[in-house]
Parts: sequence; structure tokens; C-alpha cells
Amino acid sequence: MTSDSTHNGTGGPLGFALHDHDVCVSDTLAAAEARCAADGLRFTPVRRKVLEILLQEHRALGAYAILDRLREDGFGSQPPVAYRALDFLVLNGLAHKIEQLNAFIACVHPSEAHTPAFMICRLCDAVAETHSSPAKGALGDAARATGFRIERTIVEAEGVCPTCAEKADA
Ligand SMILES: [Zn+2]
Ligand SMILES: [Zn+2]
Ligand SMILES: [Zn+2]
Repeated sequence: MTSDSTHNGTGGPLGFALHDHDVCVSDTLAAAEARCAADGLRFTPVRRKVLEILLQEHRALGAYAILDRLREDGFGSQPPVAYRALDFLVLNGLAHKIEQLNAFIACVHPSEAHTPAFMICRLCDAVAETHSSPAKGALGDAARATGFRIERTIVEAEGVCPTCAEKADA
């Protein structure tokens, strides 16, 4: 089986790692569904569709790209439809906003509370999500030294993903 290729593996960044993406998509949708059921949230067809679109490539997508795909799939073309679905997904931790790109990605572990950190490929916009611990490291030390209480950090690292690096070397 492919148990070592799902996101239960090493805890490394999923987006750039080789993995069984079909399993990844269906597992994440199932986890989102379970989260919504447990929290009494309505996982409507359009919310589900937007999450599915975001999951397709582990790539950050802007609201207009999402809207185009919704239209192709017969979900209408009203921007508020896409925005409301995105708001819902982000608010409930099923998707994250990448501030640097003004775009969105699906969360790869929607059932855990976490502070995400992102690695963003500047060549192909692929995004890998990993965890960050805002209270640790140099920033945490500086905050403690000044008595500042950190509530939220945004970690977005820009660089080149393994696939693009390989292409550049070829
Ligand atoms: Zn995947
Ligand atoms: Zn996440
Ligand atoms: Zn890339």
C-alpha cells in the first residue's frame, strides 16, 4: 500500500513531497467533512467544491482563478459566491490565505489546531505547508525579553521548490 506516502508520514511539508495525491485529496475532503459535522458547520456543495479546487495542485489560487473554475463546473459566476465560500473555509481553518500572493490554499491537516508556516515557490506558486511555533525561536525569545505576548505570526518563506530547482539544473 502507500501508507508511507500519505500525510501521516514524517510530518514533512506535503506540497513538495511525492505522495499519493488522489488519497491526499479524498482524505482531506473527508477530514473537512468530519470537522464540519463535529462542529455543526454546513459543508455546502459550493464550499466543498472550492476546497476541492484548492486541493487539486497544492498551488495558491487567487479568488478569480477559483471563480473561473467554479464557473466551468456550473456553480455560477458571481464573485460573492466564491468570496463567501473562501471566507468560510479560512475562518474554519480548512483553507489558509497566503498574504504575499493574495491567494488561498487548502489546509492539509484541517482536523488539528495549528499555526501554519508556508514555503512558496516563486516560479510555479506551489505552496507547502508546515507547522511553526511562534512562541519558540528568536522571535519568541525577543518577545519574552520585552514582555510582548505573540498572538499570531505569519510565516511565508519564498524560494524555489524541488521540481523547479531540478528543471533549472537540467
Ligand atoms: Zn496532495
Ligand atoms: Zn493548515
Ligand atoms: Zn516551483
